Amino acid sequence: MTAMTESKDVCVIGLGNMGGALAEALLANDQGVTVWNRTPSKCDALATAGAAVAASVPEGAAAAQVIVVCVTDHQAGMSLLQADNVTSALRGKLLVQLSTVTAEESREMGRWAEENGIAYLDGSILAYPAGIRSNEGTIVYSGPKSIFDANKGVLASLGGKPQLVGETIGGAPTFDKTIYAFQYASMLAFFHGAAICHAAGFPIETYVEQVASHGPETKIRFGEMIAKRSYDNPVCALEVEAAAYDHVVRLSEELGIDVAYPKMVAGYFKRAIADGHGQHDLAATFEVLMNPSA
Ligand code: NAP
Repeated sequence: MTAMTESKDVCVIGLGNMGGALAEALLANDQGVTVWNRTPSKCDALATAGAAVAASVPEGAAAAQVIVVCVTDHQAGMSLLQADNVTSALRGKLLVQLSTVTAEESREMGRWAEENGIAYLDGSILAYPAGIRSNEGTIVYSGPKSIFDANKGVLASLGGKPQLVGETIGGAPTFDKTIYAFQYASMLAFFHGAAICHAAGFPIETYVEQVASHGPETKIRFGEMIAKRSYDNPVCALEVEAAAYDHVVRLSEELGIDVAYPKMVAGYFKRAIADGHGQHDLAATFEVLMNPSA
């Protein structure tokens, strides 16, 4: 690779599917961008779009005030950052960790950053690259609020919606699991509905149209009940909801599609009813998840 081109304010280390999207978002938001990637050819399109290309990680770190790392995992990130000349180039600057890591891995990087006079935020990306490019992607962060606030403009240029979820390092890679828990399990629910639709001979488009029209109101209502741990005055009693869901189990059996998943879901409702929540709201099922041994 050739020598460093003109220096820019934010350096993105790692230009895979996500790092490339982050760099594109920064450029689209008129942020000065320097990029580095282990495989140099991934820098080419970004250079054409206006990014400076660093010949090495220390050059990239020296060129910017904010250094964003988005590589496969913690080990890859640490191996890039811990070289002496990189550490010294980062001193006094902000390091933003956007690789997917565990909370403990992030704390390890945070300790290392603190020992070396580097400000640190860890982030977790709750979006696909397309969401980052369209400025509609949420990235949750944890770390000192003062650092988050001081850099909010740059962070907003990384895909649109930065949110601080806590000041303790490791918070973001813990909070993101709440969203994974919801998204992946609700995708399975989506696939199960699609399986019923397909097996029963309805066009999948009709199902998708219906599912897509459901808004956030129910989640907000559930959230308010869960916050109070109080499930009185249901709009529909759990017993009634559970009976409706039993039809889903029976129809799945009749259609010859998988029943393990709907039986598991029905099992949670039955446990909540057995625990005395039959006349409470469906949200009372939350209590079963909080008391696995009950
Ligand atoms: P990817 O397309 O596989 O890219 C991986 C990147 O890491 C490449 O730039 C690769 O460099 C670099 N890399 C890996 N090991 C390295 C090493 N030892 N030294 C230097 N560079 C190394 O992955 P991605 O989708 O961009 O994901 C990157 C991170 O973002 C992951 O932690 C992922 O979990 C997270 N994330 C991704 C998404 C998504 O939708 N893609 C969503 C949320 C979070 P080379 O190009 O040289 O191989």
